[in-house]
Amino acid sequence: MKTALVIGAGPAGLMAAEELARAGWQVTVAEAKPSPARKFLMAGKSGLNLTRGEPLPAFTARYPQGADWLAPMLAAFGPAQVQDWARGLGQEVFTGSTGRVFPVVMKGSPLLRAWLARLSGLGVVLRTRWRWTGFQGAALAFDTPDGPRLLTPDRTILALGGASWPRLGSDAAWVPWLAARGVVIAPFHPSNAGLVVDWSPHMARHFGAALKGIRLTAADFSSRGEVTISARGLEGGGLYPLTPALRDGAALIIDLMPDTDAATLAARLTRRGKDSLTNTLRKAGLDAAKIALAQDCARPLPTDPQALARRLKALPIPHKGPRPMDEAISTAGGIRRDAVDDGLQLRALPGIYAAGEMLDWDAPTGGYLLTASLASGRWAGRAAAGVDPATAFST
Ligand SMILES: Cc1cc2nc3c(=O)[nH]c(=O)nc-3n(C[C@H](O)[C@H](O)[C@H](O)COP(=O)(O)OP(=O)(O)OC[C@H]3O[C@@H](n4cnc5c(N)ncnc54)[C@H](O)[C@@H]3O)c2cc1C
Repeated sequence: MKTALVIGAGPAGLMAAEELARAGWQVTVAEAKPSPARKFLMAGKSGLNLTRGEPLPAFTARYPQGADWLAPMLAAFGPAQVQDWARGLGQEVFTGSTGRVFPVVMKGSPLLRAWLARLSGLGVVLRTRWRWTGFQGAALAFDTPDGPRLLTPDRTILALGGASWPRLGSDAAWVPWLAARGVVIAPFHPSNAGLVVDWSPHMARHFGAALKGIRLTAADFSSRGEVTISARGLEGGGLYPLTPALRDGAALIIDLMPDTDAATLAARLTRRGKDSLTNTLRKAGLDAAKIALAQDCARPLPTDPQALARRLKALPIPHKGPRPMDEAISTAGGIRRDAVDDGLQLRALPGIYAAGEMLDWDAPTGGYLLTASLASGRWAGRAAAGVDPATAFST
């Protein structure tokens, strides 16, 4: 029987393992951590957003880097198939008002339990606390609870994750080992990250306050999502779609009243009687957090109503770029497209494939990350097993 080794028991690795096992290969999954899929389980803490219920072309277009590359993988295993797959593991799913798809139980643990049981039934052997430490000649070297081990499987799938939240396992230690073997890797950067802003002390009492009903813009990216003011800056889903531009130093502009045009707002801002500026802003529809933000970022605010309205509709936020990588939901960068063939096999290392977030694609949150990790894991596993990866998934 041919042997396959999958390194990394996240969603991409487990998907690859399943495909190889179904194709009749003897599969071992080596995982550095004491238990598998820690990031997947962490993702489930705030609601496991598996995918998004939208047509495939719109879905695929949400990958700013890698849409062409991922398109065939998502055509075979996209948003519809992710939902079928979850149901096949006994997890009913629902689509929220924003199109995001979650398991009804919201968390990832029941799905993972069912999946691991299915893999075990297919003969997949999971070795935890097995840390890949690089190459020794043609062999893959591991630190294991029983000491060092060298393996030379017929096929290897690397599914080691990106470079964020390293405490969950994806520490990107593999970058120099693959680079030394000629694999071209784009540098990692934080994606779907909070933003560093040095507030004045006046902002302290607004830490934790949500900015709702705003529009955020950075270069060509725009979002209507919510953000929260924190001691370190701004956080939350509204910022995430803008990370590629903010990473490149683009200015962040917030429209505090996107549903009111500047002329209407200016009329509302014409001061009446002895109203203070704060009172005028409040009466014009701004809550305390928005007023504080405007006063902190554009002090002194213009007194002329037209100029003030323009400022409130295009408030520049002086930021210092995204929060560090270890706090980001995901990372951009990784193994470049031209470093792998159409089956995700490393051109520099025949017989070794790569999948998941360790590849150089990027996506906003909203289920796109997990869907592409699963789809690329499935693709690499099938290609490694010699099975057509483009065959669409069916239960
Ligand atoms: C807080 C948080 C919430 C998230 N929420 C969502 C969400 O709701 N929806 C969504 O789509 N995405 C979400 N994501 C992103 C999503 O979890 C990841 O994109 C996805 O887990 C990537 O899958 P992967 O299999 O490529 O890598 P990972 O899940 O990172 O798995 C890689 C595995 O490889 C192992 N490994 C690494 N190095 C070695 C080594 N040297 N030897 C052996 N094993 C090794 C790691 O321990 C790990 O188990 C979230 C991420 C975070 C951090």
